[in-house]
Amino acid sequence: MEKILFLKGEFVEKIWGGDRLKKEFPYQFKSENIGEYWAISAMKDFPSKILNGKYKGESLDLLYQNHKDLFGDEKKENFPLLIKLIDANDDLSIQVHPDDEMAKNENSYGKSECWYILNENQAKIIYGLKTKGKKEALDLIDKEKWDDLLKEEDSKKGDFFKVPAGMVHAIKKGSLILEIQQASDITYRLYDYDRKDKNGNKRDLHLDRSKKALKCLDTEKIHENLGKNTENLYDNEYFTVKKINVEKEISFERKDPYILESVIKGEGEIIVDDEKYPIKKGDFFIITNYCKSYSFKGNLEIVESSSN
Ligand code: ZN
Repeated sequence: MEKILFLKGEFVEKIWGGDRLKKEFPYQFKSENIGEYWAISAMKDFPSKILNGKYKGESLDLLYQNHKDLFGDEKKENFPLLIKLIDANDDLSIQVHPDDEMAKNENSYGKSECWYILNENQAKIIYGLKTKGKKEALDLIDKEKWDDLLKEEDSKKGDFFKVPAGMVHAIKKGSLILEIQQASDITYRLYDYDRKDKNGNKRDLHLDRSKKALKCLDTEKIHENLGKNTENLYDNEYFTVKKINVEKEISFERKDPYILESVIKGEGEIIVDDEKYPIKKGDFFIITNYCKSYSFKGNLEIVESSSN
């Protein structure tokens, strides 16, 4: 049975996108406005395709529906996670995502997410609120006092931001990010800097739903410890995210039913039981329930995620 599923994702154009994903990753596309690469996705709009083995060419959403055994007979009806690369060539709008409870109205999972920062250049992130209570936050929104409301943080390679559902946030220009999130595409736009498009129109906002969804949460930015072989970055009710730094070789038992791997730096190989595969920066793959143990060899940085 298949022990490893290499994936090919979809490139998604955004008005704030750019061409950095083809400059900094071994990807090819024509557009100059690619904002997102949906690398590990079973979402209906942009599902990943399997690149190897007997399921080659199949889409991840159908594979998940029809071959739950690969995923340890996962009980969740829909594939629970989504992993993207994001190139922000401009500021994204200030936004917030609903939690599971609120997202039920839209027939979706809620959206907790997190960001591993890849840009070596200094960039900024809007991350949470300066206010302590929700009443104060809503008051500042009504008065459009955005500077009093929004907290800004510096961000650079190796920073990691936890963004639970309800946390107000925005990715700003110059950011290159690996995003791990619940498989949901529901975003409420709170503020768009009053920008207008070339026809003089502002983008739609979702003020009422944003105000309902937002929570005053403690922010938690951390910076990775490159000296560690394996570091836990985030463990919440939906997913666990780890950073793996490979200098020569490192081996693991597969403990989770299936594991999502994102190669963000370097090259080398993965050995799955006794099968060897070359891997490099920009590769994304799933280790299935049929793998017992796996090793990484080479010089690699990998972000490993699993569903909780
Ligand atoms: Zn978001």
